[in-house]
Order: sequence, then C-alpha cells, then structure tokens
Amino acid sequence: MMRFTLPRDMYYGKGALEHLKTLKGKKAILVLGGGSMKKFGFVDKVLAYLKEAGIETQLFENVEPDPSVETVMKGAQAMRDFEPDWIIAMGGGSPIDAAKAMWVFYEYPDTSFEAILQPFSFPELRQKAKFLAIPSTSGTATEVTAFSVITDYAKGIKYPLADFNITPDVAIVDPELAETMPQKLTAHTGMDALTHAIEAYVSTMNSPFTDPLALKAISMVFECLPDSYNGCMAAREQMHYAQCLAGQAFSNALLGIVHSMAHKTGAAFSTGHIPHGCANAIYLPYVIQYNAKDQTAKERYAAIARSVGITGSDSECVVKLCQKIDEYNVKLNIPKTLKEFGIVEEEFKEKVAKIAELAVGDACTGSNPRAITPAEMEKLLTCTYYGTTVEF
Ligand code: FE
Repeated sequence: MMRFTLPRDMYYGKGALEHLKTLKGKKAILVLGGGSMKKFGFVDKVLAYLKEAGIETQLFENVEPDPSVETVMKGAQAMRDFEPDWIIAMGGGSPIDAAKAMWVFYEYPDTSFEAILQPFSFPELRQKAKFLAIPSTSGTATEVTAFSVITDYAKGIKYPLADFNITPDVAIVDPELAETMPQKLTAHTGMDALTHAIEAYVSTMNSPFTDPLALKAISMVFECLPDSYNGCMAAREQMHYAQCLAGQAFSNALLGIVHSMAHKTGAAFSTGHIPHGCANAIYLPYVIQYNAKDQTAKERYAAIARSVGITGSDSECVVKLCQKIDEYNVKLNIPKTLKEFGIVEEEFKEKVAKIAELAVGDACTGSNPRAITPAEMEKLLTCTYYGTTVEF
C-alpha cells in the first residue's frame, strides 16, 4: 500500500496571508527566524490578522539557520507554557523545520530525538495544536513536506526527521513574502526546487500521484527562474508556486543522491559552507549522467527532457537535459565544479573517501534510481570537482 499526504489546505496568491483573518482558534504561537519578516512588515500583518480573528498570540523569535536541538526544546517549553492550539511558522526553511520538531515535543514532552529518528514512527500529533506554515523563500517547500532537519551541535549530528504527522495542516504560499529574497538566494533555492522535482520524478518511489506535480514544477522552473533571478516579480510568483509543487512531489516520492551529496559536502570543507541549493545545482548534471546508465532512469530523464521541448533519442535527450541545466547554472552565476566553487584540491582529495562513504549512507540514497557503492560515489564526487564527464 502506498500513501500520498499533503496539507489539508493550501492558500496561494498575492495577499493570501489574509487567510489568517478567518482562522478558527484561541491561541497561536508564531515561530520566526532572524528578523527579515519583521523588517519587511509581515509579522505586524500576521499579528493584525490574528487579532481580527480573535486569536491571542505569542512570538518565538530568532530560530537560527540549521536550527539546534536546544532551540527546539526551548520552543517546545514556550508552547507548553502558552498552550497554543495553532503553531504558525513563518520564514525560510529553518523556523518552519524547527517549529515542526517543537510541535512533537510540545505534544509529547517525554519523547526524545532518538525515539523519533526512525522514519514514519512518530506519535500521533494534533492532540494539542494544528500547524500552519508560511514560507518566505522559494525552495525547501517545508510548508508542504513531511520533513524537518534539526542539528545536534554537541554531537555533530543532523537529525533528518520524516513523518506525515509533521506535514503541515495549512500552507499559505503568498508570493509577496518571496519578493524579499536576495538574488543569490533566489538562484540557489530555485535550483534546489528543480533538483527536488527531477529527483522525485526519477526516484524509485515515483508514482502517478507525484509525476504530474514534478513535471509541472520542472517546466515552471525552466520557464521562470532566470527572470525571477533578474528581478521579475511575476516570475518570482511562479517560482514560489513551482517550488511548492516540487515539494508536494518529493514529500511523497522522496529524493536521490544529488541530495545525499549536498547533505554530506555542505559543511565538510574549511573554505566555507556550500549553500544547499548551490551544491545541488553543481551535482545535478553529473548525477543525471551516472543514473542514466540505468535504463528505466534514462527513460524517465528523457521524459523530463521531452516535457520541456527537447527532442531526439533517449540518449540525446539526456545529454541535452544536462546541457540545459549547465546553461541555467551559467545564467544564475553558479559554478560548474567544486574546484570553481573554491574548494581546495588537497583538502578535497584528503576528505573525498570519507564524504563518499557518508553520502552513500544518507537517507536520500535509498530512493535513488541506480545503486551506488562508496567507491563509485568517490569517483562521482571527483568528477564534480574537476568537471569530467561521468563514464561509469
Ligand atoms: Fe533540497
């Protein structure tokens, strides 16, 4: 038996934030990130709308990027003290991810991260509160997914939480919030969304329920991302919807090794963090070359290519799809290789074997369409460093 789960309601369009005026409830805690939502006036809007709805509110602010276990526990305590019947998370991926985990510990104070690490093993949520998510970036789609990533800095571990219990009840996808994204973030989050849709479409978990969402997201990203990057707000609006469609696809079809590689290289080098979407954008064409050696995957990449107007045999379609992604990376000022990104050769060589092993063990590897060994992963990562074609 398969399962397909999405939020019960998704409100979208300019001004969709106004839905909050009609929210039914008593108390809402508003979970926020570093302050950009406040700066641009969206927090005031939310508070005014909730007041109009007769809902008492409390803020939980300053959730950091890559939210920590401590922040989650502090937020859960704040929720236990305030007893909200709505958890409203607004901002980039971090405050929304953090709020999802706070929700678990609000409703089940005696559980632990260890107890919920097994995917799809969560206790039944919605005993105390429902969850509403409002994204301000166009990439992670955490407003519609069953996922959350929390970091245990003391242990140096990332906990990838996965359960349909933490799929939000309501998502408000208002493009006015995404208008505040800086240009680089627009490029990176946009390529993250493209990667979500492509990986979901070729995933071993793909289905007739997720395929249309993935294909539509892919065509919208190809159509709108460069203009969105260059400041066109009509295109920015379409990107905000495209990333949400991609999220609906991958929350149910899962991802592949582009994400495994991005997860394990993101914080691996001393020269600085590789932003998640930027890492995905670099790896995507190489992974397509690797996966397309599998006949079924090749046919599905060809189907993606044809859905965006590329013609030719399956093999030609795969080559042209990779070329198209390369062209977009150029337009978006994203480097083609890890070397070009600025990773030092000596450090790369020293660390690549260990990173390869970790990437193979990543939660996203299981649904990749072609199996991979640590030795193959090391070769693949090496191709992404020097920009060599993947021929194995
Ligand atoms: Fe991603």
